[in-house]
Amino acid sequence: MGEFDLITRYFKRPATRSPLGVGDDCALLAPAAGMQLAVSSDMLVEGRHFLSTVEPARLGHKALAVNLSDLAACGAKPLAFTLALALPGVDEPWLEGFSRGLFALADAHGCDLVGGDTTRGPLNICITVFGEVPAGAALLRSGARAGDDLWVSGSLGDARLALEVFRGTLSLPADAFAQARARMEQPTPRVALGQALRGIATSAVDVSDGLIGDLGHILAASGVGATLDADATTALIAVDTAGLPTEALRTCALSGGDDYELVFTAPASARAAVAQAGQASATRVTRIGRIETDAGLRIVDASGAPVSQRFGSFDHFV
Ligand code: ADP
Ligand code: MG
Repeated sequence: MGEFDLITRYFKRPATRSPLGVGDDCALLAPAAGMQLAVSSDMLVEGRHFLSTVEPARLGHKALAVNLSDLAACGAKPLAFTLALALPGVDEPWLEGFSRGLFALADAHGCDLVGGDTTRGPLNICITVFGEVPAGAALLRSGARAGDDLWVSGSLGDARLALEVFRGTLSLPADAFAQARARMEQPTPRVALGQALRGIATSAVDVSDGLIGDLGHILAASGVGATLDADATTALIAVDTAGLPTEALRTCALSGGDDYELVFTAPASARAAVAQAGQASATRVTRIGRIETDAGLRIVDASGAPVSQRFGSFDHFV
């Protein structure tokens, strides 16, 4: 099978929301009047972002999910995406599974695959997503203000728990491991919540490299500090962690990464509106701290006492 047969067979489908999709030199997008385009790229490299053992359908899902998560963090609505793919060879069962997982999530969000590039090379997947957001309404990292509540969506720490089980540093019962592994391999981008938070949240970021590190981007961009409740955060681990040490749970929930939840801030006067946005998007939202004038991040336990544990954040070059 040649390059063009491969594209036609696995990746060419009629565009539904874009005037021109796969097959020409460029795709064409048509954002509605008054909307700005929101654009983001994320690359997945074997051995770095995923294990070779992952099912191709889950990998197809994850490759798009991590990109949709960036649109969610900006409050943008998905429109279209491109897929740049390096493949070691033509493995049809792999292509079938990968494209099935990819298109299932794309269809769930009405997001068209409109173009890309296909080449031979070590397995590498790069997606660029395009979304739309009313002009001036995108959620940014820079809008947090002292006095705002600090919120997070969904659950935290499960993906890191699964990774630690793969690494052999922790063990979980089989059903808890399966649940954690699904969180790692098939994250849920909080696309509806992001849009529901427009005009309510003052800032937002998605958690890809770990809560503390990603929250740090909000603090730096906004010129503020925060206090974070470590116990409220570890309580958000979804799988049953009975018997695991508190330190390990805090590492997973506070600096785990790969969660693809939204961390956001909103004024205390907007608590009911945030709860309503959570309900409207069927997404749990939890308050885990507050924004303060003093720079830096203070991590406390449920009684307000400082937590002395040291945490890292994921960085490809450290
Ligand atoms: P060009 O030579 O103009 O760069 P290509 O020959 O690389 O175009 O690709 C042909 C068409 O197939 C283009 O419309 C391109 O966007 C699309 N395409 C290539 N690879 C993919 C892919 N993995 N997924 C979706 N579309 C793709
Ligand atoms: Mg061309």
